[in-house]
Amino acid sequence: MINHISVIAFDADDTLWMNEPYFQEVEARFCGLLEDYLPHHTVSQELFKTEMDNLPLYGYGIKAFMLCMIETVLRVTENTANPEILNKVIQYGQEMLDKPIELLDGVDSVLAALYGKYRLVVATKGDLLDQERKLKKSGLEHYFHHIEIMSDKKERDYQKLLKHLDCRPEEFLMIGNSLKSDVLPVLALGGHAVHVPYHTTWQHEHIDHTIEDPRFYQFITIAEILPHLTT
Ligand SMILES: [Mg+2]
Repeated sequence: MINHISVIAFDADDTLWMNEPYFQEVEARFCGLLEDYLPHHTVSQELFKTEMDNLPLYGYGIKAFMLCMIETVLRVTENTANPEILNKVIQYGQEMLDKPIELLDGVDSVLAALYGKYRLVVATKGDLLDQERKLKKSGLEHYFHHIEIMSDKKERDYQKLLKHLDCRPEEFLMIGNSLKSDVLPVLALGGHAVHVPYHTTWQHEHIDHTIEDPRFYQFITIAEILPHLTT
């Protein structure tokens, strides 16, 4: 049993709903646009490099991804790209911003089971407008006491969230698909963290060590959390 929890926070992308596959699908099409210039794998590396270089300036989300694709087109083609390629990039991004929300298995029933027993919170990175759109479309908004759209998910960002919620770290449980963003900073603060891996993870979220912590739990599906909590 995980005891003395008052706040349960959920990551959104690839925890509540599908996200990363949309990025991967667009990235594959993006690489196709530039295949006359470079092999797919190299374009993919160039795009990742652009994303990492711009992360401190742009943060996370689809709009940042669009700008990075445009910059990568210009660099790879040495500014000779047909404007049609840039039009396609903008179109791909706009399509992403209009995607339906596909909830992951068990999400709705887990939230329904926990609702009223804990303060439920969303803690997510990404574009403010886009995450608000997804929450609205998801039909899950009514379960949540608070929604925090964070520019990053480092220890100091969680500290701010805990302070805002007036919650001590040992009463805080975070559930998410990223060890780097959803688990490590929360454990470092003395909170509890549940990792529910998604079948695919963005390269930036990878870590290369295992976690040993009595407040760390790993489950295959989100529903496996329920027997460990008072419901
Ligand atoms: Mg996530």
